[in-house]
Amino acid sequence: MCGVIGIHAPGQQAAGLAALGLFALQHRGQESAGLAVSDGDGVMLYRDLGMVSQVLDERRLPSLQGHLSIAHCRYSTTGSTLWENSGPAFRMGPRRSVAVSHNGNLVNTRELLELLPGGRERLNGSTDTELLTALLAEEPAEDLVAALLAVLPRVRGAYALVVMDDQRVIGVRDPFGFRPLVLGRLPEGGWCLSSETAGLDILGAEVVREIEPGEMVVLGEPGGPRSIRMAEGREHLCVFELIYFARPDSYMMGRNLYEVRRRMGEALAREAPVAADLVMPVPDTGAPAAAGFAEQSGIPYREGMVKNRYAGRTFIQPSQALRQRGVTVKLSPLREQVRGRRLIVVDDSIVRGTTTKQIVALLRRAGAQEVHLRISAPPIFHPCFYGIDTQIETELIAASHSVDEIREFVGADSLAYLSIGGVLDGLQLPRDRFCFACFDGNYPVPVPYDATSHKFVLEDQPVSLPS
Ligand code: SF4
Repeated sequence: MCGVIGIHAPGQQAAGLAALGLFALQHRGQESAGLAVSDGDGVMLYRDLGMVSQVLDERRLPSLQGHLSIAHCRYSTTGSTLWENSGPAFRMGPRRSVAVSHNGNLVNTRELLELLPGGRERLNGSTDTELLTALLAEEPAEDLVAALLAVLPRVRGAYALVVMDDQRVIGVRDPFGFRPLVLGRLPEGGWCLSSETAGLDILGAEVVREIEPGEMVVLGEPGGPRSIRMAEGREHLCVFELIYFARPDSYMMGRNLYEVRRRMGEALAREAPVAADLVMPVPDTGAPAAAGFAEQSGIPYREGMVKNRYAGRTFIQPSQALRQRGVTVKLSPLREQVRGRRLIVVDDSIVRGTTTKQIVALLRRAGAQEVHLRISAPPIFHPCFYGIDTQIETELIAASHSVDEIREFVGADSLAYLSIGGVLDGLQLPRDRFCFACFDGNYPVPVPYDATSHKFVLEDQPVSLPS
């Protein structure tokens, strides 16, 4: 995932705007946060491990002066959780200084490494983003736009980038548009880029349009944003952005994501009905689909678990040890709602199954009579190489277990997943506009080498936070 923000705000302090926009994208990455800023005369960078509000606080922001800024919150898909791997990536090159915020994951990182004179030794960290930044800083082109046009045709994989030098901020989406990026107009003049419309809403910005796949939009020049067609685009937006990752108040492809998820819940109730007393979500992301399920089935909706909002998202923690610890501090049952009742529990995905198993156990300990799991997405059979940390097939429970085996493993009375047709009922958009690869194995961009080494391709040994 990762969240990215770009700001061009003449006469204003862009860092504060970028930090606020990034705050609305916190759900997209919780490992690190940072921003780069320019007043037209040099790029300054501040970044650290931690949440947006911890890293970009009132003590830091006043010293980050300038009308241009980009920001980034990280969820690692290449490289370990290290300070050196936090974003934005920055490189002071012989030709230009470049900062890059990247959402996505490149699939030809090893090939790209061969283009960097000196190779791996020239990098401080181990992310595909730092490598890309180094290539942009060293590219012998006249300016940053020309450098992007020279380097990006060699890059394969998923990237929604916000890139800056000391003069301009540039947004780019890869030709398949795996990851979202949207352009907005700031209320006091200027322009902004964000992974999601929620990042524009918090700034009071007007949503102008989505950046198109294969398009580059340059901010900071007279006359407003300049659009450059970098490559022919054929959109394959990650369907999981709409199912689960992005905020429900965001819009993508003209669809409000709460509504999309609510419709998926309705479809799920039609496909997999079951007699029960209550429908309840796994908070918070299961809520819209649970509401749709309840409406369609006529079974009352109620909350059965309370989430500690400060515990972070289980799935987004970078290691299994942290994920397991995360779920136990994250949810607690509302015993009066749960006790003695037959529950339909709606969640948006089962990845590894460990979190789901703990949730079922938690509800049973609270006295649930029956627990019927309904998942508002199909089973995840295949790993993702385009920016979601499910790169190892053996970690995906559906890749090696039948639905009934998964039901048994998680301890539920019944388990049903939404079909791909049900997802399309929710989207109300054609299937060929999306990547469905983790459901159907059709990867729009081939993955050229051994998947198991992918995440740590630029490292000798992966490094994780102590557990
Ligand atoms: S493989 Fe799955 S998670 Fe990855 S981009 Fe495609 S749909 Fe999204």
